[in-house]
Amino acid sequence: MGKLCELCGKGAMSGNLVSHSNRKTKRSWAPNVQVFNTVINGTPRRVNLCTRCLRSIRNGKYKLD
Ligand SMILES: [Zn+2]
Repeated sequence: MGKLCELCGKGAMSGNLVSHSNRKTKRSWAPNVQVFNTVINGTPRRVNLCTRCLRSIRNGKYKLD
């Protein structure tokens, strides 16, 4: 399971880890992806969604179909 949201496609970002002596090494940030159990077209499905999308669904701003 990759760290990818199946709704918005949000994935890992990259950047630098900067130490106090200003040395920079590569690091990455993964989105907060959770497994969400839902029913799509009458079939129970497990989808990997970021918490941003989960919140939109819970607020009724977005409907899974
Ligand atoms: Zn998302």
